[in-house]
Amino acid sequence: MGRDHSEYDHARAVWNGLIDRHPEVMVRCADIADVIACVEAARTHRPPVSIRGGGHQVAGSAVCDDGLVIDLSELRDVVVDPVARTARVQGGARWADVDAATQAFGLATPGGEVSETGVAGLTLGGGLGLMQRTHGLSCDNLISMTVVTADGQVRRASADENADLFWALRGAGRGLGVVTEFTFALHPLGPDVAAAAFVYAPEEAGAVFRAWRRLAVEAPTTIAPQFALWALPPFPGLPDEIVGVPIAIAIGTYIGDAADAAPVLEPFGALGEPILDLSGTSTWVEAQSQFDFALPDGGRYYWKSHFMDDLDDEAIDLIVGHAARRPDPNSAVFVRTLGGAVDRIGSDDTAFAHRGARFNVSVDAIWRDPALDDDSIAWARGLWNALEPGSRGMYLNFAGLDEEEGAGVSGLTLGANEARVREVRRRYDPEGVFGSAAARP
Ligand SMILES: Cc1cc2nc3c(=O)[nH]c(=O)nc-3n(C[C@H](O)[C@H](O)[C@H](O)COP(=O)(O)OP(=O)(O)OC[C@H]3O[C@@H](n4cnc5c(N)ncnc54)[C@H](O)[C@@H]3O)c2cc1C
Repeated sequence: MGRDHSEYDHARAVWNGLIDRHPEVMVRCADIADVIACVEAARTHRPPVSIRGGGHQVAGSAVCDDGLVIDLSELRDVVVDPVARTARVQGGARWADVDAATQAFGLATPGGEVSETGVAGLTLGGGLGLMQRTHGLSCDNLISMTVVTADGQVRRASADENADLFWALRGAGRGLGVVTEFTFALHPLGPDVAAAAFVYAPEEAGAVFRAWRRLAVEAPTTIAPQFALWALPPFPGLPDEIVGVPIAIAIGTYIGDAADAAPVLEPFGALGEPILDLSGTSTWVEAQSQFDFALPDGGRYYWKSHFMDDLDDEAIDLIVGHAARRPDPNSAVFVRTLGGAVDRIGSDDTAFAHRGARFNVSVDAIWRDPALDDDSIAWARGLWNALEPGSRGMYLNFAGLDEEEGAGVSGLTLGANEARVREVRRRYDPEGVFGSAAARP
């Protein structure tokens, strides 16, 4: 599909409405042969190349200017083997596809928290989610991948085949090839899960945040506590007085039998005086799409995060104070807790380098009015910069915009694994076919 195609503008749009790139050609691949043909063409003609999975990367790296987009968004099949407890997932699938297919057998694999996010980009950058402290990151649950590399060959990447490629794809998976299929390990879960979600008034945010920090540090690995300073858009069931109002919210989803959840979840409601209790039991599929309504396609977004070992009182005060000055209340600071199963794997066992960090602090500018572009981006950068002294590095998957050019292979995202990733990239793409566009976040 070229510039004169009637669907051109629709096809080049990604989740982030801030992105406005004009590729020369977009190829919606129908099968692996189409992917090979794209890679062959890229090798011959050497255009800028980008790969599109779910199109959710905040920096919009699924599309490139004046180049070739290898679009996998129609390759969404998921095949579950309930006996082996594995799922084979095509390279353009969304998490909604995976959760629907695996839950039919009472199984799940760690995925993202918004159902329309692509499996590919999320997994290749690591993959944070509700199951991470119990069963690890998304990339930790990979058994193998099928990859079309820059020479047009189809390779299997696993612990036994092309192990160097398998290592690099788990956390630094940009510019290494086109993954056409992922095989994940599955775990029993659901259909029902219990979650705590307690809303606190913004005046209580500092005290609740401090209490939440203690809870997060002591929490069992059956939950991955979350804390957000946010404002929610309208949603059925959300009381009018909460809509669009700055709030603090403490969240925990119990990864296990919902009947056992109460003792683990109750403390989330005792961090202060909650103004609303949104806790309850839902299906796993519903839990995995609970934030879809708040992060719609076409909104304007700029996210940037830090992995941090600790959140001292000074950092908490900084976050709370800065959050109170956000240009649009829908912007958020979202804190996730790591540890547990994430740390059962060594920092150099996969390319994902941030094992051992306790928190991920994501500064998520979210707005709709283009007039707020500059202020919203400046707000997010301001807090991100202020927190940098306590940072262990940033998350490849929550990268902002073009200032992160090259962040796909930088020390900021890859830490001590950077040199080894560069070496693997040179081995599998010596001519740089996937080039700088693919290397962006
Ligand atoms: C609403 C929302 C919620 C999110 N929630 C989470 C979350 O809970 N946890 C988390 O960890 N992250 C989360 N993220 C971040 C997410 O992991 C990244 O944005 C990720 O890049 C999305 O993957 P995608 O396939 O949709 O992206 P795309 O934009 O399609 O791709 C991003 C990059 O990945 C590479 N890529 C994509 N497909 C392939 C492929 N098949 N083969 C090889 N390379 C490929 C390309 O380099 C591409 O530029 C969220 C993002 C959004 C927008």
